[in-house]
Formats: sequence, C-alpha cells, structure tokens
Amino acid sequence: MPDFTRRFERQTRFAPLGKQGQARLCDSRVLLVGCGALGGALAQSLVRSGVGELVLVDRDLVEESNLPRQVLFEERHARESTPKVQAAAETLARIGGPTALELHATHLDESNAEELSEDCDLVLDGTDNLATRYLLNDLAVQSSTPWIYGGVVGSGGLVLAVLPGKGPCLRCLFPEPAPQGSLETCETAGVLQPAVALVAALQAGLALRLLAGPPLEKTQLFELDAWEPRTRALTIERDPNCPCCSKRDFPFLNDAQPHRAVRLCGRNTVQVRGARGETDLAGLERSLAGVARSLQRNELLLRFEVDEGRITVFPDGRALVEGTEDVGRALALYDRYLGR
Ligand SMILES: [Zn+2]
Repeated sequence: MPDFTRRFERQTRFAPLGKQGQARLCDSRVLLVGCGALGGALAQSLVRSGVGELVLVDRDLVEESNLPRQVLFEERHARESTPKVQAAAETLARIGGPTALELHATHLDESNAEELSEDCDLVLDGTDNLATRYLLNDLAVQSSTPWIYGGVVGSGGLVLAVLPGKGPCLRCLFPEPAPQGSLETCETAGVLQPAVALVAALQAGLALRLLAGPPLEKTQLFELDAWEPRTRALTIERDPNCPCCSKRDFPFLNDAQPHRAVRLCGRNTVQVRGARGETDLAGLERSLAGVARSLQRNELLLRFEVDEGRITVFPDGRALVEGTEDVGRALALYDRYLGR
C-alpha cells in the first residue's frame, strides 16, 4: 500500500486520534446502508478520513430531486438514472485514498443483513425508512456491533449511537415502528441540505470516535435543527424491559417480515406488503396533498400518481406500485411515500 502519512497529517496531529488511531481507522470495515443524502455525506467523510473498507448498500437510482443534498451525485447520474451505489463509487474513487469499496445495489433485508455486515466494526444508518432501521438495530444488538442511527426531515434530525451492552438501543426509545402514514417523511415535509449536513457530520464524528478513538462510555440522543437553529442532547436510559437489548428478541432480523415485495408478472407492477400492518389512509392522503397527483380515496384504497408511476395503497398497508418491475425500486418508492 502507498504511504499515506502526508495525506492524513492534519488529522493525525489531532492528539486523541493520532497515528495509532489513524492506523485503527485504516484497519476498520464499515457497513453503510444507503448512499443518498445522509449516506452520501457519510461515505464522503469516511473515505476522506481513510477508513479501510466501506461496504455500501443502496437499492435506488439517482433522480434530479436528489441533487440539492445528495453530495456524491451529479446531473448526468440523474439523466442516466444511474444506480446510487455506482454513482457514489465513481465520485468516491476520484477522491482516492486507501479505502476499499464494496458495492451492493440491493435492498438490505433479513435475508442478507447478516452476510452484508459480516466482519464489520460499525454499521451506519444512511437509510430513509423505519423498517430498515429496526432491522439494523436487531442486527447490531444481536452481533454486539455498534451502529449509529441518523434521521432527517425538514430542517432537523436525530442522531443516536447505539453501543450494545453500554447504552440504550433504538427500541428502548421507540419500542415499535410508528404506523404507516403517521410520520412526516422528506417527501411530505421536505428536507433542507444543511439539516442533512448537520446530522451526517455528527454521525461521522461518532463513527471516527468509535472506530479509532478511546472507547465512548455513554451516548445521548441528539436533536439538531439547522433552521431554528437549535441543538439538544437528551440523556436516555436503557429500558430494562426492552424487547431487543434486554430480552434479546430480534423479530426484525429473525422472522419473515411482512414488508415484502413481489413482481406481478406481465403487469409492470410490484406488490409491496406493509412493514407494520394497518395504514391510516386519510392521514396518508393529507400528508400527500401537494406531493402526489390524482389522489383518490375510498374505504378500500388510496390511489395517487407520482412521477415514477401510480401507487395504490390498501388499509392493511399493502400497495401496488405500477410503472416498475424492479422490486428494490418499488420498495424505495413505498418507503418514500408511505413513511420512513
Ligand atoms: Zn433496547
């Protein structure tokens, strides 16, 4: 391997990291799930910092509306609908440095999560949906791997580093995923780039500390806002009855999840079953007003059109995504419009 001493001179001069910390960083392997807004900023930060191996997983394609905040993508990627992992790899390769990239253009779920995270020292959340975050939480707690949750919507977001055995996990805070359609998403409430940058910067700093610095003994939940502007750190205790980190029950990882998609042959349609059952169609309709076109609702369904096709949602959370035969693409659209 070439000598990167000069390249990392400024960060190794930072005493708590030092040359030994840099060497640990260059020896580490990180799973980053999602390489869009948060994921792109995290990938850039880790590659520039000189992490050893970065496993990138993303199921989506680059679109024009990604460009204001997804730092690894350019207009040509959007014009060509390039897979996000591929566009990310092109940009990251131009930055150079010692990082080896491993790319997976796939949807991370319970069938591949353990394999994708094998030998990883850290898992980073660059996703946009709750189903994947609960899966990552199960995966991390079960395998005693730290993971860093990050979520952004509007002008703010949350960050929590989960250190298995040392502090609370995601389910100590939020025992169950919120019902479909009950939370704002970036699609319904919008999102500002500085909010992404704030959340990603704190996640990346925690990542460096966990990979290369002295052990971190406690974590807090950080609430950040780039518009108000505001930062808050909340001390969260471990829940002694937490189903995940206390009772060690990992349903999101070990049980077949209902959040599954199947291609409907010859119809250019994918059926997606909801992550968590019952869906508030009226609430969903309200949140999609101004975002989706041709909204129609009755007792049996909510139907709407977006640029990518037509989506029909049923009260049990099931949806038909028309206009694609790509299961990963359909899941991405489902999570984007029906809740994080
Ligand atoms: Zn817990």
